[in-house]
Amino acid sequence: MVSCANQDPKDIAQDEKIGRFLGGVSNTLMFMSGKGGVGKSTTAVNVSLFLSDLGYRVGLLDIDIHGPSVAGLLGLKGMPLNIVNDKIQPFQVNDNLRVVTFQGFLNNPDQPIIWRGPVKMGVILQLLADVDWGELDFLIIDSPPGTGDEPLTIAQRIPECRAVIITTPQEIALADVRKSLNFCKQTNIRIMGIIENMSGFICPSCGERHDIFKSGGGEKTAAQWGIPFLGKIPIDPSVVEAGDQGCGIVKESSPAKSSLEEIVQRITANLENEINGEKAARKIGIPLAGGKLCSHFGHCEEFALVSIADGEIGEITKRVPPPHEPGVIPAWLAEQGVDTVLAGGMGEKAQDIFRQKGIKVICGVQGGSPRDIAASFLQGTLLTGGNPCSHDEPGHQCHHGR
Ligand code: ADP
Repeated sequence: MVSCANQDPKDIAQDEKIGRFLGGVSNTLMFMSGKGGVGKSTTAVNVSLFLSDLGYRVGLLDIDIHGPSVAGLLGLKGMPLNIVNDKIQPFQVNDNLRVVTFQGFLNNPDQPIIWRGPVKMGVILQLLADVDWGELDFLIIDSPPGTGDEPLTIAQRIPECRAVIITTPQEIALADVRKSLNFCKQTNIRIMGIIENMSGFICPSCGERHDIFKSGGGEKTAAQWGIPFLGKIPIDPSVVEAGDQGCGIVKESSPAKSSLEEIVQRITANLENEINGEKAARKIGIPLAGGKLCSHFGHCEEFALVSIADGEIGEITKRVPPPHEPGVIPAWLAEQGVDTVLAGGMGEKAQDIFRQKGIKVICGVQGGSPRDIAASFLQGTLLTGGNPCSHDEPGHQCHHGR
């Protein structure tokens, strides 16, 4: 996040800790749903377990403060989280999976939490700053249903996170999925895809399929929104059994297990393709003011144009753009062959114009030389904080739409 002169030193220290932690996280996936009870936590837990079984280092963070399920699904209910040297020690579920759930701080796990938004936001930030997570290939976040303070805190603090949206197939659930999709659009977080859970039931006696909650609605919504469909998970009694026993994962061969395996494969393959796409970027544009990364796009004086070949940094040139007029700079950068812009702050209108030109924009990038910024981007370790030109931080003077 961009620090201001009047920012509390405690907040600056927390920001730095979060920045250090996120610098060691390769991918963040936030599991979201429009409604409760659609299997979001079950899916987040199972995806985490499957990824950890594949050898990825996974951190699973339950930020559903009012209705945390992760502890119960993994048999951790009632177990306390320890603190060593001022760092919260996550539960180590297996060699590769670390879990933190707020339930680990409660004396009575059935005690309700009655907190307002700012307190919840503070707790979530603390769970990012003060946990001994170590380096992670995946940070999986189980967020509460809906589009409240908890997912908003993540979207603002981890803008590079991707949303995985879980739904059941019927229209009443899909109506709320559209709200989640609009939330992602408005907060500028990328959508990893939609998972359709409880999609049909294969009768164990007759082998026939029954679409109890209908089927295909999630897939159709994904197609309508032009986002990836990650797969369907059928209704499967072994999912309930595994969850109730606190072993989370569907162990024996079952319809849900093979569906989850396919979903995990699709997630890793899609991420790999995306990263390869980033490596194949032809040219990166970085707005500069006074020779440094410009924290407000509208104030930029020149652009560093960084050529990339086979994932390696080539020539870096500096060019002065034409005078700022709406749409002029995106068109000019497109002419220069730029397909990715790494910016500090940028207004939403400007981001939309870039997208329309097929240029990817990553906002909230923090200082450094153009070479360092481009190198971090290529290595997947680019540090990003809040977008100082977003409407959530209205105190800044920005020139939206440039
Ligand atoms: P959410 O996190 O969306 O509130 P949960 O993951 O807690 O939902 O799941 C709600 C209930 O549905 C749990 O009892 C869980 O075992 C059950 N469930 C989830 N997915 C399936 C499935 N594919 N088949 C059968 N039961 C499921």
